[in-house]
This record gives sequence, structure tokens and C-alpha cells, in this order.
Amino acid sequence: MNTQCTQIFRPIPAGIAMAVLYFLFAWGTYMLRKNTGFPPIFWVPNGIALSALLICGFGLWPWLLLTSLVFNVLRGFPLPAAAIVTAGHLAGPLLAAFLFRRMVGPKPRFDSLRTLLLFVAIMLSAGAMLSSGISILGFKVGAWMQWSGVVPEWAEFWLNESLGALLLVPPLLTFAHDKNAVTRFVRSIDSQALAVLVFSLLLTALCYTPLSQFHQSVLIRPSLFFLLIIWAAIRYGLLGSNMVLLIAGIGVTIGLGTGNIPVIAGRADHVLLQEAFVLILGVTGLVISATMREKNEALEARDTFFSLASHELKTPLTSLKLQTQLTQRQLGQGKLLDHCELNKRLAHTDRQVDRLTRLVDDMLDVSRISAGRVALRPERFELSQLVTEVVTRMTPLLQQAGCTVNWQPPAPIEGVWDRFRLDQLLVNLLSNAARYCGGKPVWVELERFENEVEIRVRDEGPGIDPEDQSRIFQRFERVAHDHADSGLGLGLFIVREVAELHGGSVRVQSQLGQGSTFFARFPLAKESPSSALS
Ligand code: ADP
Repeated sequence: MNTQCTQIFRPIPAGIAMAVLYFLFAWGTYMLRKNTGFPPIFWVPNGIALSALLICGFGLWPWLLLTSLVFNVLRGFPLPAAAIVTAGHLAGPLLAAFLFRRMVGPKPRFDSLRTLLLFVAIMLSAGAMLSSGISILGFKVGAWMQWSGVVPEWAEFWLNESLGALLLVPPLLTFAHDKNAVTRFVRSIDSQALAVLVFSLLLTALCYTPLSQFHQSVLIRPSLFFLLIIWAAIRYGLLGSNMVLLIAGIGVTIGLGTGNIPVIAGRADHVLLQEAFVLILGVTGLVISATMREKNEALEARDTFFSLASHELKTPLTSLKLQTQLTQRQLGQGKLLDHCELNKRLAHTDRQVDRLTRLVDDMLDVSRISAGRVALRPERFELSQLVTEVVTRMTPLLQQAGCTVNWQPPAPIEGVWDRFRLDQLLVNLLSNAARYCGGKPVWVELERFENEVEIRVRDEGPGIDPEDQSRIFQRFERVAHDHADSGLGLGLFIVREVAELHGGSVRVQSQLGQGSTFFARFPLAKESPSSALS
């Protein structure tokens, strides 16, 4: 059970909530199909299961198994068939959740095109394909279906389950993991949102109800939903586009139930075609909303960069200016500065110039990284010697901050890396230790694993709240904004980029008040120079 879920629900209520929703939607869909002939094109329980596993963790699987089994038995399947269908409904979401969390991280958010495309690919391939494949086997075993024509039936199940996931997972994960996106969505609602809603409902009525028989206009076609979903995705993001998807999906269900399906009515596979249409519509909306979000965040990052940079650059400049003015005034009054005072002022100037240099270097690096212009220059060298060099160079700074440095070089570790960038990675970690952990000891460790190497920097400083740990590696993210010596929030971002450019990763282990350990792990050899990351 992950922390996000335990913050929202206790584990057992989470299981019960998921089970109740799963059962209600499964039963509702089943009854609607059975009693009214309306074939709901979203298999919502698949979306509920996948969302619950992604938000609350894999601990919910027994609830899922039990609920699906009860549902399949109650709808009248004999036990072997119910068990097979249940296995499908469990295996698909479990595999999809496992792959998605593995590739995107423990708290997946739909904030980039990469995440979105990974979700669509996993959900369509591993997830829905597996669950619909096993489920259709259960249906056949239960002898409700003939084996002939199994492929289109399976395709229908597959699209049905995919649509359930597509409809529910992106918005539910946004609500659980991405509060900013929800706030932005709520703030963005305006009169145009009402227009999108009204046009979507109107189009549904004109295309999928008996009204479609009264107009023969070539202009009014379900393809107009693309216009509406693009409009909603651009202005209201993922949540807006999913609203149009929901309306279109309900429209298609009504149309199939009442026989009002324009254009392709009469074809034997018209349900399949309708489901495919809604799936393409939904993916289009999500792709556009993710692309817009990336673009908007890049613009916001640029604005943040300028405002932070000008604010942070001003601090050392103002301090330098004040000191220069004071010295000028004193010299103008004929006062002579003694050796000790002069030394103090020069040390102050030196510190401010160092700070300015660090800020400018970070700014240049981050703009190079963002533009994808960081090219590694791999060469073969011995890493523990480089670490010794950096530790020796940084020791005066750490000692000035009252930190003792502990470093025991291990046996030589040879590899192929970019010497300058690894130097920079360690400098950033050590200068953070000097800035945030004054008066406390710092340990630097280097360890070789089979094909990898790990650099660890451990301190006994103030530690970092677990809530903040995932964001500190992102651009401009700072925890202690008011810390006298904090920077632009770029140091750890650069550390992460350097590790990732080497094919590795970084993480932090920390508790408030108990210090922090930063881990940078990467392969022994960076085979091909990488040049683009942003
Ligand atoms: P900055 O330039 O602001 O230090 P970083 O990206 O290097 O930016 O660090 C991000 C945030 O992480 C900092 O604002 C600081 O609060 C926190 N941090 C970094 N290193 C440590 C550490 N060793 N101990 C405690 N907090 C740290």
C-alpha cells in the first residue's frame, strides 16, 4: 500500500471502495446489456481496477479477485468459466499496473507525452489484450459463445476494456497524483467550457438518437467530435478531453442501443468500428492535452527561470555593491583599513563571486540541458582517483562550514565516463552538504557492483521531508526557499541529468532531522555518447 493511498483511505476501506464500485459498474453494465440491448462500450471495471492498483498498490489484488469472482458467479457462469474470466480480469490490470509503474515510477502522472504514450501502449497491449484474451477463453469454456468468429468478439472485448481504462485511469490518476493539474483545470473553467459541453451533447443528440433520422446533413457527422475534443484538450487539458470522450462514448452506446448509428450502420462489425472510433478519439484528446501541457510547462519554466535568476543574482550583487560603497566611503573619509578588516572584506567578496559563478554556471548548464545540447565526452579513467581529487578540492569549503569529510578510497574502479560531468555531479552533492549541513560530518563512499558503480554522499544534516524528496531533483525545486545560501534549485537537477546521461539514476534516502544519503548509480561504461536530454 503506498503512502498516497493510505493518505486517502485506510487499506481495508480502499479495498471495499474499489470492490463496491467495481461490482456496481460491472453489474450495471451487464444488466444494461442484457435487459435493454444497449451495449455500453466502456468496460468501466477495468478502469477502476487499473486505477486502484496504480494509486493504492498491488495489495488490492485479493479484493479484485474476490469481487470479479462473485460477479461472474452471480451472472450465472459455472465456477470453472467464472474462474477463467476472473483470472483475465485480474491478470490484465495487474500486468499493466506493474509495467506502467516500473517504467514511469511509483506515482504516475500524465504530465508528458512519453507517460501518455507508454500508458496507451501498455494498456492496449499487455493490459487489455491479456485480460480480454483470458476472459474470452472463459466465455467459450462456459459455452456461451461459439468458437467461430472468436477474433472479432475478442477484438470487441479488447476495445471495450481499453476504453474503460482510457476513460478512467488518466483522470483518476490526475486527481490522486497531480493536484496542480486539477486546480488548473478548475480555474480554467469558463463560458467556453459550457459551449464545449453543449456542443458535445447536441452532437450526440444529432448523431446518435432518433433525431439523426430527421436531418440528412453531410455536415453533421460523429467526426465533428474530433473538433470538440481538440478544443477541450487545448483549453482544458486531459480532464476536459475526457469529458468529451465520455459524452461521445455514451452517445455511441445510445446509438447502438437504438439503432441510430450513422455512416456505418448495417455492417456486421459496426460495434467494433464504433469502439475503435471512440478509442482513436480518446487517444487523440490525450495526446493533444499532453503535448499542450509540455509546451505550457516549458513556457512556465522559462518564466520561473527568469524571475528566479534575476532575484538570485541580485542578492550577491547587492551585497558586493554595499561593501564596495562602504569601503569607498571609509577611504573617502581618510580611514585606513587594517590588514584584518581588508582580509575579511576580500573573503566576503570572494564568497559572493563564488556564489555568482555557481549561479551562472548552473544557469548555463540548465539551458544547455533543456536545449538538448549536453554532449558527454566519455574517456577511460579511474573513478576513485577522481573522487579523491574532488573531495580534496572541496574539503576547505566543507571545513569552512564546520563539516568533517570522511572518505576512504576503495580499490581502483576503471570505467568509461565523462570526467568533467562526474566531477560536477560530486561537486554539486558536496556543495549541498556544505550549505545545508553545516557543523555535521559528511561521508563520501564509492562502491563497485557487477556492472555498475555507485557514488554515495551521506550527511547528518536536517534531512528532507519524504513529501519533498521526489521533487528536489526537478528543475527550480527548492525546499528551503529562505535558506541563506540556497541556489536556483538546479544543483540536484543537474546531478540527475548527469547520472541519466550516463545511463544511470539518482535517489535520496532521508528522514527529517536524521540526515540524508544521495545515491548516484550508473553503468561502468557509457557506450555511446548521448547528446539530448531535456
Ligand atoms: P539549491 O541550488 O537550491 O540548493 P538543489 O537542487 O541543489 O538546489 O537542492 C534542492 C533542494 O534540496 C534545496 O533547496 C535543499 O532544500 C534540499 N537539499 C539538497 N541537498 C540537501 C542536503 N544535503 N540536506 C538537506 N537538504 C538538501
